[in-house]
Amino acid sequence: MSESWIADRMRRIDASGIRKVFDLAAKMTDPINLSIGQPHFDTPEAIKDALCQAVRDGKNAYSQTQGIGPLREKIQSAVDAEYGHADRQVFISSGTSGGLMLALCALVDPGDEVVIFDPYFVMYKHLTTLVGGTPVVVDTYPDFRIDVEKVRAALTDRTKVILCNSPANPTGAVNSAAELRALAELAAERDIALISDEIYRAFCYDGDFVSPAKWNDQTIVIDGFSKSHSMTGLRLGFVHGPAHVVQQMAKLQQFTFVCAPHPVQWAGVVAWDYDVSDRVAEYRQKRDFMVSELRSDYEIHGAQGAFYLFLKTPWGTGTEFVTKAIKNNLLIIPGNVFSDADTHFRLSYAADDRTLQRGVEVLRRLAKGRP
Ligand code: PMP
Repeated sequence: MSESWIADRMRRIDASGIRKVFDLAAKMTDPINLSIGQPHFDTPEAIKDALCQAVRDGKNAYSQTQGIGPLREKIQSAVDAEYGHADRQVFISSGTSGGLMLALCALVDPGDEVVIFDPYFVMYKHLTTLVGGTPVVVDTYPDFRIDVEKVRAALTDRTKVILCNSPANPTGAVNSAAELRALAELAAERDIALISDEIYRAFCYDGDFVSPAKWNDQTIVIDGFSKSHSMTGLRLGFVHGPAHVVQQMAKLQQFTFVCAPHPVQWAGVVAWDYDVSDRVAEYRQKRDFMVSELRSDYEIHGAQGAFYLFLKTPWGTGTEFVTKAIKNNLLIIPGNVFSDADTHFRLSYAADDRTLQRGVEVLRRLAKGRP
């Protein structure tokens, strides 16, 4: 085996930041773990029952590429009722990640530019480079708001896609209707594809969720059950967008993912009607708790949704601060994993209240000064 076997595209993917954190974490015993990007509760029983039943009923073969009819139809009628776009078609993907990968493959040519917002979800940069595109980063520090004039200034003749994510990972920011409208209208005006990653749409604490698709009928929406229904390991997502784009994505799914896991799609039919509002209410309380406990020691922006806080370090770089936190048994992620800057850290409050309380104690101690 030789190094030269490895394709150049793999050299452009740098997973070292997150790996360092997990290497450090492996040495910890009983860490206060605020690093996890998934809900801390298990998949609801009714969904697990539907999954087991589907497996027992022999729904274990390939499904249609675009997803089983009953799930597609349920989502399609909800999407039609919400947007009323004549040309908006639903497609079932293998997780939100699968949907993102297919969308970028279908839209981005080598040399094309993809606008993403910094701080960004790590996958956006890597998937963009994987398909030969260039990520163009628009800074949203310090308050994580979208300034549409900054986006306009970042556009070039090669801009193919703008990729937005509200509520956002890692900041928990929920963009205002005005911001999303301006972005949607700009994309339409410049004939640029707008991809909206809405995986956290259930987790909006201070107002109703809004999608930029409301103002741009060509928006490609990527969504999934991982976070809202705690189904991260089950790999079920969905996409809705203009039929000609969705059909290209389906064509590629046929030769890559083939289909979303078939029995999980049947569980998805039950999940679609499952009310998660009690879990969202629980996370709202956790958000309120964390913000009220930390606001006197930390600068807090975003935090209107998802289950993350992205906080400015009171001293040192993100990496220095997180290294110290880990020495104090607290596992959090340095900001440079999600950003070109290393000034913040991400914590996830998808944890039980006792863990949050312990995490707060360490964070307050660390804020007192560089120990
Ligand atoms: N988008 C965002 C913003 C995420 O945070 C995640 C999961 N961390 C994903 C997409 C991928 O989710 P899935 O499990 O559906 O692939």
